[in-house]
Amino acid sequence: MSADANKESKIAWLPDLLYTGKRFERGLALVCDASGGIIKVAQSDQLTDEKKVRLSNRAMLPGMINAHSHAFQRVLRGRTEYRSQTAGASPLPDCDITRDTFWTWREMMYSAATRLTPEDIYDASRMAFLEMALSGITAVGEFHYLHHAPDGAPYDDPNLLAKEVGRAARDVGLRIALLRVAYARSGYQTAANPRQQRFIEHDPETYVRRLERLIGDLGCVRRPTVREGSARHDALPNGRASDTAWVGVAPHSVRAVPLDYLREVTAYANEHQLNVHMHVAEQPAEVSVCVEEYGRTPIALLDTEGLLSERFTAVHAIHVTPKAIPSFAKTGAMVCACPTTERNLGDGVVPADEYFKHSVPVCLGTDSHAQIDLLEDARELEYHLRLQKLERAMLHGGNPTVREGASADESGKSTLPDGRVSAMATRLFDCATVNGGRSIGASGGALEAGKPADFFTVDLDDPSIAGASPDDLLSSIVFASSRAAVREVIVGGKPIVSEGQHLIQEDVIERFNDLQKRLWN
Ligand SMILES: [Zn+2]
Repeated sequence: MSADANKESKIAWLPDLLYTGKRFERGLALVCDASGGIIKVAQSDQLTDEKKVRLSNRAMLPGMINAHSHAFQRVLRGRTEYRSQTAGASPLPDCDITRDTFWTWREMMYSAATRLTPEDIYDASRMAFLEMALSGITAVGEFHYLHHAPDGAPYDDPNLLAKEVGRAARDVGLRIALLRVAYARSGYQTAANPRQQRFIEHDPETYVRRLERLIGDLGCVRRPTVREGSARHDALPNGRASDTAWVGVAPHSVRAVPLDYLREVTAYANEHQLNVHMHVAEQPAEVSVCVEEYGRTPIALLDTEGLLSERFTAVHAIHVTPKAIPSFAKTGAMVCACPTTERNLGDGVVPADEYFKHSVPVCLGTDSHAQIDLLEDARELEYHLRLQKLERAMLHGGNPTVREGASADESGKSTLPDGRVSAMATRLFDCATVNGGRSIGASGGALEAGKPADFFTVDLDDPSIAGASPDDLLSSIVFASSRAAVREVIVGGKPIVSEGQHLIQEDVIERFNDLQKRLWN
């Protein structure tokens, strides 16, 4: 290769400050190859033949990883903030429908879900992913359960809608884990709900057959997990920047998937090293009905049936007793908290302090997209506990990170020993990055050699973080930054957001505006 060609193929990004995973440092450059992978983080005065891109007045951070999304629910934003007049049949045997709750919201959500065409799902998903990109998210775990036509009949391609969501992610430039949902029934001793017929696949054989077809059609490589403290046994050891879409297994919940079905799809996932996501203990009614059906809580059921593993992510995991958490922790399973959705739906507070205490890694999701701002989810993880316990700095201790080489802060100090960087902010940011990566099988989440060049920048003069020193910048970003502070977003070395604007922003918004008019007027 000639010297000129080499210069073209390597890019060095030069921000004012670069987040190394522990602190912000000056004078560093992120060097990427032509395929969009990180070659190294180097001293900027030691660069040689790289093409240099200066990011003035910017701090660079690894792209955030949103571990739980239902992209189509973006159409609901602002449309459910009133007291429902639609109380119908009780969705679960002991569900109180005289109050506005998750369950009445769910009926409103279903009424939108039943009306969306494949093209609508593409447009709604593109809008959700655009917002994610604008907020610094570079990869998403899409918990996808809309499979069929509105009358419940499968499309000629039974994965048509999953592919529409995947196409939306690709067009916006995000990496996506398509977590294909298994959904078998309305609930234990519950009559079928016609609004759920787009989701249902009655038997695990049908589900697995369609899952395998999706894997084949996407041409994706199955993504094994990264085990904490052990060598990576990743089929893609360098986190290839070309890995843009892959697949995981998502039994919807213990309510919607009976135990035999659950055992079969989990066994398939384990055999093929696929990650498993499941809604767990989001609502008290889900727990009480599970106890009625199986004599065990959802967490106890999953644990005693041996269904939990380090590839398992329990989404929400709110209504869990502190007693159940140590044995959950032993399985290596993770928790995905979605605080902006959980507060919107009145779900409850994730006991993150207990999870942190037992070293359960917690990641974050924007779920219903009542709001899309993963840093808001990160701060709410802490703030909800403050409101509940009337205490500050609840998540200062423990070691929830999956970052290799990280050490526990056994002393309980709120600062790292080598500086004034808040360990709490570091941990919350890890929830939004490396922990999310492990949960969905994405290899980003850190600015390190061998990872894909997925990152975002913040404007150091943005009013929400202006005046921060390098030592307290991460705390300012995690606890106070506005989404408008995000200025550039790069995925696989390619810019998708520049100066706070996404490349296809106008088209995405225009088509979404049209969709909302058609849907709601
Ligand atoms: Zn969800």
